[in-house]
Amino acid sequence: MTVEYKKPLPNPAHWPASQPFWEAAKRHELLMPRCRRCNKLFFYPREVCPTCLQSDIEWQKVSGNGRLHSFTVIHQPVNPNFTEDVPYVYAMVQLDEGPRMISNLVGCAPGNATVDMPVTAVFDDVTSDWTLVKFRPA
Ligand SMILES: [Zn+2]
Repeated sequence: MTVEYKKPLPNPAHWPASQPFWEAAKRHELLMPRCRRCNKLFFYPREVCPTCLQSDIEWQKVSGNGRLHSFTVIHQPVNPNFTEDVPYVYAMVQLDEGPRMISNLVGCAPGNATVDMPVTAVFDDVTSDWTLVKFRPA
């Protein structure tokens, strides 16, 4: 589903190391980089494995399921374009496969968010060019 936002939004940086992540998000899939040498999944995307410092990286589809590791409720956004969205939940999600990622928790009133609650990925088609990975209660 494409939501037409009526406000200017910051665009994700076009960085080659993260391109597979963004392309997968557009297909509503969540991919994580995995090191072929030590087999560790990691996030954020980068050109070198943070565990063994090798650059033999491939991409693996993950479930999108995890738990809310930590969160804060934003009442005063740094970017004024998000003023009408407050309050919203800025979340750190512990994916079942291991990596943690920062995103938004949606479909949940901020007062109902709890640490360790099960969550699953949802895909917000911000424009026809890019999609954001967010999470909702599972
Ligand atoms: Zn490695």
